[in-house]
Amino acid sequence: MLELAVLGSGSSGNSALVCLGETRILIDAGLSARQLCLRLENLGVDPDSLSAIVLTHEHGDHTRGIDVFCRKRSVPIYGTTHTCAIVRENVKSEIPWHHFEAGNDFMIDDIKVESFSVPHDAVDPVGFVFRCNRSSLGVVSDVGHVTRMIIERLKGVDTLFVEANYDEVMLQNDTHRPWSTKQRISNRHGHLSNDQTAELVRQIASENLRRVVLGHLSSDCNAPDLARQVIIKKLEAEGLNGVLVECAMRKDPLPLCKTASEEAAPPEISPEEIDEEKPAKSARVCESTGASAPTPSASVEEWSQTEWAF
Ligand SMILES: [Zn+2]
Ligand SMILES: [Zn+2]
Repeated sequence: MLELAVLGSGSSGNSALVCLGETRILIDAGLSARQLCLRLENLGVDPDSLSAIVLTHEHGDHTRGIDVFCRKRSVPIYGTTHTCAIVRENVKSEIPWHHFEAGNDFMIDDIKVESFSVPHDAVDPVGFVFRCNRSSLGVVSDVGHVTRMIIERLKGVDTLFVEANYDEVMLQNDTHRPWSTKQRISNRHGHLSNDQTAELVRQIASENLRRVVLGHLSSDCNAPDLARQVIIKKLEAEGLNGVLVECAMRKDPLPLCKTASEEAAPPEISPEEIDEEKPAKSARVCESTGASAPTPSASVEEWSQTEWAF
């Protein structure tokens, strides 16, 4: 069963972790190496135990930790040929690069990784679907608009990690950013608004969909509760009421959580177990990996990096 954790998500840095047993894949490495290590350790994951890093695109908020992180450990990096060519320019460490073309599928141990092109102002941006026999996780971040291909590739996943960057009204009313920046954010190669994300979720949702994690939220042109409500309302209008919708924020990692298919089919409980006075387990509480218990924000301090836009 795949597990997903989000180490951090937002304009100042993005990184998530997908696990299947001993296979641990980092999706993007846009936090400082120090924060990557700290946050992995807080999840009970040894930074030296990563199987691979896969890259969505070359922007600094997705790649800035790679060089320093990989100086101490040789982690294979998977990216499209064009993305790797740009990222390599700023990397001095010896890294085993694995190139693929957008649209290719490849295996990392027992996890099948499917890639597909997305529209964004980067050289060759991609989204992913991670699959093992019973679970599927779709990942799309930094997407200017929703394409037919995105919908086709994500349809039927049980867990979706997707950006919900801004609220349209809050962006229009924002007085800090020049008009040109607002245009760059909201154009067809920028980022998704809450409404666009909700429409994407509606289109890919099936009875398999159990969990939606929203990421890359703007710190001042969006709000977690607002973003969640927009998506939940859209799902409810489709009669999909049981989907867990949560936000991954830039300071607070989301702990490792099994994809929801397993939660949907809990093991049978014997009569003796029912008699035991155990506290009821909320369906909204994620199970950890069984490694050391995560303490998400305990020793995580805010990092300071300039935001170019969102
Ligand atoms: Zn980004
Ligand atoms: Zn980007």
